[in-house]
Amino acid sequence: MSVQETTHEFQAETQKMLDIVINSLYTDREIFIRELISNSSDALEKMRHESLTQDDIFDDHVPLEINIDLDEEKHTLTITDTGIGMTRAELERNLGTIAHSGSGNFVAELAEAARKDVSLIGQFGVGFYAAFMAGKKVTVQSRSWDGSEGNEWVSEGAGSFTISEAPGLHRGTKVIIELKDDAHEYDKKWKVESIIKQYSSFVPFPIKLEGETVNTVQAIWTRSKQEITDEEYNDFYKFIANVSDDPHYRLHFSVDAPLAINAVLFAPKENFESMGFGRVEPGVNLYCQRILIDQHSKNILPEWLRFLKGVVDSEDLPLNISRQSLQDNALVMKLRKVITKRFLKFLAEEAKRDSDYYLEFWNTFGIYIKEGVTSDYEFQKELAPLVRFQSSRSDDGKPTSLAAYVERMAEGQEEIYYINGPNRAAIEAGPYVEMFNKKNIEIIYTMEPIDDFVLNHLGEFDGKKLVSADRADLDLSKSDDDKESDEEQAEKLDSDASSDLVAWLKKTLDDKVADVLESKRLVDSPAMIVNPDGYMTSSMERIMAASRMEKGLAPEASKKTLEINLASPLIKQLADLVKSDESFASDVAAQIYDNAMIQAGLVVDPMVMVERNYKILNKAVGA
Ligand code: ADP
Repeated sequence: MSVQETTHEFQAETQKMLDIVINSLYTDREIFIRELISNSSDALEKMRHESLTQDDIFDDHVPLEINIDLDEEKHTLTITDTGIGMTRAELERNLGTIAHSGSGNFVAELAEAARKDVSLIGQFGVGFYAAFMAGKKVTVQSRSWDGSEGNEWVSEGAGSFTISEAPGLHRGTKVIIELKDDAHEYDKKWKVESIIKQYSSFVPFPIKLEGETVNTVQAIWTRSKQEITDEEYNDFYKFIANVSDDPHYRLHFSVDAPLAINAVLFAPKENFESMGFGRVEPGVNLYCQRILIDQHSKNILPEWLRFLKGVVDSEDLPLNISRQSLQDNALVMKLRKVITKRFLKFLAEEAKRDSDYYLEFWNTFGIYIKEGVTSDYEFQKELAPLVRFQSSRSDDGKPTSLAAYVERMAEGQEEIYYINGPNRAAIEAGPYVEMFNKKNIEIIYTMEPIDDFVLNHLGEFDGKKLVSADRADLDLSKSDDDKESDEEQAEKLDSDASSDLVAWLKKTLDDKVADVLESKRLVDSPAMIVNPDGYMTSSMERIMAASRMEKGLAPEASKKTLEINLASPLIKQLADLVKSDESFASDVAAQIYDNAMIQAGLVVDPMVMVERNYKILNKAVGA
């Protein structure tokens, strides 16, 4: 007889998730065993951690372990652990709501994944609720380590659950699953054993299946590198990352000084953030002497390395350190620095060892490296050699490193140049690369919105300044040894006509431009926009404007400088037109300005531009 039975509704989000989990014909539903073992393991880790600092623990003598029992007649599977257990209130809260961080989108993302490809559900770690993939009825008996009376939670996954008192329990949690009719295979020992071996062999507590231990408990990172096989590493990765494929990179390192560290870090093959899964949680766990101190630690690595999976174990950390104090613990900060530098050094070595394999990593995770450059000054020196960009010399589509660019620089070139554009073809058709091509100077193409910020933050590489080609004061003459011939000089407007035209353009475009200058670097294009302050590039300005607009603010556009090409036939004819038909010349000037703005990727008023353009076309056809 149940004492004090109460009935509770599942939180709406939880019920939605349950419906997805129960109704999807999820082929890998055996993962429910992994999810439950993982919960038990977490509860045992917490118990081990508590017992370091607490004296008064109920059932202190029971060994920390997981027991799995099967009943082929009643068709049940029971998982029992001796972890911290749950009080009545904890049962109600933990098994009725979704504790997931960012749970706002969690269910929507889960639903989307289930619609696209059910096997993606596994990525979500639906946790305890996975029990309903195989179970028609789930009973949870639990007693907290605080010794308060135990309770029993029961549900069939539809709408509600009940909780009632259950006297006489041991400390910990027992999950009893009454299997669905089509899930009876999970009461067979051979089946369950193979599932445990596949998913849970690295659980750091004994897992006993009908009394027999089926896993090896030793922590892999404490063993010597020489004795661990690739397969063991890969299995360990799959276990901690909850994935089914192998990692892209693996780094296992152990040092004794200045700190004792044992770490195994993995870079995955896929970037889940780019697959529409939202922001990923940090994936590295912090241990001290094999005791889990901080799961999915936010402190042990910088945020931009959140895609890494693995473990860090340091004997130097105080065992009784609380999770809250990790954040500003000097030792943790030191660990963070050492491990981050070591990992970045590893990446640099890998890039040298096999550059194509590194490029695969770069294509997937380069965005995080860029995030590191723009957000974390501390590691810039280590990050700079890792970035890759397309350039005018990378026609085979392989991005180049800054070091390779520097190696190719001709004598006399002192700066590294870059220009932003939406793609290679657009950049190469634009005005900014003309003089670079003519003088055979390599120029980096930055094609992602964040790229100009990255190069701007780096500022220089190997003592060479990083300079955007849309800078007003760019001077390529230093790297030029063939001086312009007289013939080319003769093609230009003479100097009186030039200064008249420049003065007239300044006056005519006064409300739009900061200045009009004679260009020393345009070859064919009549004009281009350059940035006077040399800090903000057009690409950066575009992004700032977009983010202001998102916030409902008017975009702040600074006035630009217009460079004109005095050897261009259009500009030369314009000088004459000013004298014969000034009003038409004003339209042409405004159109040249708009065209240059568009080539710089900046915004013009399309309505005004189209109207003016028709006016000019009418003139051209004589209408
Ligand atoms: P998650 O494990 O991702 O937090 P779950 O839905 O699996 O989500 O579990 C929710 C919560 O229920 C856990 O965070 C934990 O507090 C509690 N819980 C689940 N299983 C156990 C267990 N075996 N022992 C103690 N607490 C548990």
